[in-house]
Amino acid sequence: MSAPAPPPEGLFHPIAIVGGGLVGASLAIALDRIGVDVGLLEAAPPGALPAVFDQRNLSFAEATVHALTALDVLPRLRAPTGAIARIHISRRGDFGRVALNAADYGRAAFGRVVVARDFGDALEAKLQTLSRLRRYRPARFLGFGEMAGTASDGGRVVRAQGADGEFALRAKLVVGADGTASGVRDALGIASDAHDYLQTLFVARLRCERAPDGTAYERLTDHGPTALLPRGDGHYGAIHGVARDEADAVAALDDAAYVERLQHVFGWRVGRMLSVGPRSAYPIARVLAREIVASRAAVIGNAAQTLHPIGAQGFNLGLRDALTLAECIAEHRADPGAEAALARYAQRRREDRERTIAFSDGLARATSNPGSLMRPLRSLGLFALDRDDALRAQVVAGAMGYRGDVPALCRAEVA
Ligand SMILES: Cc1cc2nc3c(=O)[nH]c(=O)nc-3n(C[C@H](O)[C@H](O)[C@H](O)COP(=O)(O)OP(=O)(O)OC[C@H]3O[C@@H](n4cnc5c(N)ncnc54)[C@H](O)[C@@H]3O)c2cc1C
Repeated sequence: MSAPAPPPEGLFHPIAIVGGGLVGASLAIALDRIGVDVGLLEAAPPGALPAVFDQRNLSFAEATVHALTALDVLPRLRAPTGAIARIHISRRGDFGRVALNAADYGRAAFGRVVVARDFGDALEAKLQTLSRLRRYRPARFLGFGEMAGTASDGGRVVRAQGADGEFALRAKLVVGADGTASGVRDALGIASDAHDYLQTLFVARLRCERAPDGTAYERLTDHGPTALLPRGDGHYGAIHGVARDEADAVAALDDAAYVERLQHVFGWRVGRMLSVGPRSAYPIARVLAREIVASRAAVIGNAAQTLHPIGAQGFNLGLRDALTLAECIAEHRADPGAEAALARYAQRRREDRERTIAFSDGLARATSNPGSLMRPLRSLGLFALDRDDALRAQVVAGAMGYRGDVPALCRAEVA
């Protein structure tokens, strides 16, 4: 393979972000706000939202709502969002249950439910207003190239496939926000550990006899979680996890049979389930990068850690990656790829990342180990959680997005 042409002088940005999904786009907006020039490379072409902005329902923690309001993204949503005022967790066939009420913590809501597609449109509308951002799309990351001149130039060359062929650009810092199968992470030589939960999640909107009243339900079973999230449009966002070997059969069910299945698994807390919208299916795995920084590079969002969606933590955590990185860059404007900036980013992310991964994984395992010995222990876990105020407060703080070293934009409605 011939060496890529050195990038022309003009194609330089202090920061290049690879991936304009939920987290990469959020980082681009946060960096524009503090006056940093960014090149954003996204594989999807102009005029099309990346595929990840689909019909999945996203639970935004309070910290996320604060930050996205301050970044002027949430005000651009067109569909109504649903407030999560209560969280109810139960386990099918067991006695343990947890009921959390935001009012007990001085809040109207723990967070809000947003449809990913609508969020994608809001991010896109905001991206279009940014003056310092240059977007490259379609631009598929191919790998890193050689720096012209000496290695001490202090940057990286990104090679990408555009509509008219391969091109290259230079940056002092490259951020991999390219999702679970991150090519940036691989090209940096950062190893990752993957665990397949052997579950498939089906997501659809669901209409029930009782309209959402602000309660988010999480029902744990041996084969996966089933959750009903209170959307803002009178529907629930229904998430139904099944063992992977059952997935084809569940996908083949017609709507009436699917509703009957949901009703059987979930029970009658929302009355009769009436109708269901189109279903999408997601095979679920956890992928954890062993490092989140390398020389002149960082990985954020799903590229750094892909979690089981059960705890609704993935984007919330990824946004905190992005906002923390933006703060570290603001402290090192002269050279955003400097070792000190990246070391600070890695250090600030450690606690939140470790605790959130442990929380999501713990919940996921509570739904996937059908051994009868485990069952009472899991029930006792929920039982203890419902009675231990300190433990509950910790879980609530995590659910609201306040773990570890919290970025400033998460803390206040308008920063
Ligand atoms: C069913 C389901 C429900 C979920 N619910 C929640 C929830 O309630 N709350 C929550 O916080 N999280 C939730 N998540 C997790 C959330 O969707 C992810 O954490 C989030 O999408 C991660 O964003 P990201 O930008 O890191 O990666 P992605 O959203 O995957 O974006 C990656 C981007 O990179 C682009 N890309 C990929 N490769 C390249 C390349 N080579 N070159 C250029 N561009 C590239 C892609 O086109 C894409 O735009 C859920 C996930 C699922 C599956």
